[in-house]
Amino acid sequence: MSWLEKLLPPKIQHTDPADRRQVPEGLWIKCPSCETVLYKTDLEQNQNVCPSCNHHHRIGARARLNAFLDNEGRYEIGQEVVPVDPLKFKDSRKYPERIKEAMENTGETDALVVMGGAVLNINLVAACFEFDFMAGSMGSVVGERFVRGVEAAIEQKVPFVCFTATGGARMQEGLLSLMQMAKTNASLTRLAKKGLPYISVLTDPTTGGVSASFAFVGDVVIAEPRH
Ligand SMILES: [Zn+2]
Repeated sequence: MSWLEKLLPPKIQHTDPADRRQVPEGLWIKCPSCETVLYKTDLEQNQNVCPSCNHHHRIGARARLNAFLDNEGRYEIGQEVVPVDPLKFKDSRKYPERIKEAMENTGETDALVVMGGAVLNINLVAACFEFDFMAGSMGSVVGERFVRGVEAAIEQKVPFVCFTATGGARMQEGLLSLMQMAKTNASLTRLAKKGLPYISVLTDPTTGGVSASFAFVGDVVIAEPRH
């Protein structure tokens, strides 16, 4: 320590950046509605609803299904179906690179999670979009998992529930994405013919082509309130 540093009051003495106490990122969240700064864990424990203004924050697929389904008897449907790159698509980046990044960021293998289980002991199959996986876009995997979920509901004679959070069709799969609209709607027609209910819950954000297909054809369509 030089004579000058010795003269400085302790408060202005420089510390080694490595010694400074690290504040973990993302521990606090500012509510976009009431601007209250919320502790992330508190928000999650309140199912992502702001404790001070009741604003419904966005919620991931698995967290939502966790909150929705009874703890017992859950099983996942179609997790073995994973994305491929049939068109060798490339925009500013290659499609497989985008998939890899989305997988790392979300821990999911595509933008739809489907689970069988029960709600208050009533058996059903529930599908939920993961918006953080390529904006919840629907490609072949999302379509296939959706249909497998509907087929499981038909087989077990139980209702099918879908929570949408999606930007629409996945452009990296071109026409194959658009085909999913017909494919998913055809499966819902089979469900309807068996007299089984389809409940569509629109959550923030639901936009694009999916709204024009299976999201709006539910026997019951519910829009999750923002407040
Ligand atoms: Zn709030």
